Amino acid sequence: MRTDEKIRLFFPAMLSAYGPQGWWPAETPFEVVIGAILTQNTNWKNVEQAIANLKREGLLDAAALAAVADERLAEVIRPAGYYRLKAKRLKNFIRLLTDEFGGDLDALFALRTAALRERVLGVTGIGPETADSIVLYAAGRPVFVVDAYTARLFYRHGMIEGDATYEDIQSLIQGALADDVALFQECHALLVEVGKRHCKKRAAECGGCPLKKFLEEGQPVREMW
Ligand code: SF4
Repeated sequence: MRTDEKIRLFFPAMLSAYGPQGWWPAETPFEVVIGAILTQNTNWKNVEQAIANLKREGLLDAAALAAVADERLAEVIRPAGYYRLKAKRLKNFIRLLTDEFGGDLDALFALRTAALRERVLGVTGIGPETADSIVLYAAGRPVFVVDAYTARLFYRHGMIEGDATYEDIQSLIQGALADDVALFQECHALLVEVGKRHCKKRAAECGGCPLKKFLEEGQPVREMW
């Protein structure tokens, strides 16, 4: 089966196994942005705790985040881990928002998709996965989020080489799927679920995996990623 056909068939197979994942769990687009920055290198439970702290302290707001001292912000988001670094990253994003868009997230999100992605990617400490999470889940634009789970799974299925870049994988997926925000949001969340349940870093546990039928007969699962 061709790679693009496989990619298209992955989605219904994962959806029928796990159902809709309801990403991104947040009350506002601004909260999605903050969560996307805080979730780097930590699990979501820790992010929830940090966001709850921000809400309690009245800091889930661009003006409040612009005014708070770095050290105070770091303490409030401590549960998210790497809290000093993440406080700086939050401040960097807020600086872009306040200096160039009057603190108005809607004004930033009014940019065309490519320009929006470029501006968010230009914030120090925000890499492609975080930028695309913001563009897809907060701004609602059709940009696919690639992560380590996706890369590992695609590699194990022989769909990419070990030196594939973020952009290579993103182009492969976007070339196979129609530009559909809801599809991209759900498909990324489902790939993460497959990665957590079956396609683990340590080893692929293919038994019971909804994507097992897409391994070619006799195809060895690559374990090197
Ligand atoms: S666990 Fe096996 S079948 Fe499932 S995605 Fe990974 S390599 Fe494919």
